[in-house]
Amino acid sequence: MPTLDTDEATRLRMSRQRSRDTDPERALRSSLHRRGLRYRLHRRPVPGLRRQADIVFGPARVAVFVDGCFWHCCPEHTTSPKSNAAWWSAKLAANVARDRDTDEQLAVAGWAVVRVWEHEDPVAAAARVAQVVRSRISH
Ligand SMILES: [Zn+2]
Repeated sequence: MPTLDTDEATRLRMSRQRSRDTDPERALRSSLHRRGLRYRLHRRPVPGLRRQADIVFGPARVAVFVDGCFWHCCPEHTTSPKSNAAWWSAKLAANVARDRDTDEQLAVAGWAVVRVWEHEDPVAAAARVAQVVRSRISH
């Protein structure tokens, strides 16, 4: 395996993140589907709130976000690009702050938020999501 310098690695992560329907998201979706769960994709759970979840369980009011390790600062894989370090640091901190704000706003509106890292095992993540969904439709 050739090693990548930081900028090249950053570019690859960016190109991956920009696309909807990333591989981790697809893997999670198919695992959820196999569990018999049905959901909608890329919806704004709360009307008037400009935050879009990746996977939405309407009746259960569960919003799932599949977070890229780089963009959302996963504690295991977070990295700091060397060039434009200050800009990146501010950008990534703003992403994390927005995530927490989204969590809070959805909770206030009565939604449960489940965040899944892109590095997580999709089967285990689907089990986690299923548990939350079932707990919210059983009563
Ligand atoms: Zn990660």
